[in-house]
Amino acid sequence: MKSEPIQTEGAAGLDIKTEVAVEEFWQTYRPPMRGEYHGRCNNALCTGVDARWYNVASTLYYCDDCAQRINERCRQLGGREICELYD
Ligand SMILES: [Zn+2]
Repeated sequence: MKSEPIQTEGAAGLDIKTEVAVEEFWQTYRPPMRGEYHGRCNNALCTGVDARWYNVASTLYYCDDCAQRINERCRQLGGREICELYD
């Protein structure tokens, strides 16, 4: 068996220390899931996190700003508010 050269490059062709660091980052840092309680706001155009407003229509969670807008729109249309705060 021939000896392998000391590996300095990782699978992605980057410095192996960088790749290990990135891998560890993703294993320890889990990005909040969209539309989940305390996760990212379900509005795709929103970067809000800590979504706490449950939308009974979509059954997903929204941030404060988006939930207020959705409820305001509901009132304008004469319907009931569909976002409820879960705290
Ligand atoms: Zn939002």
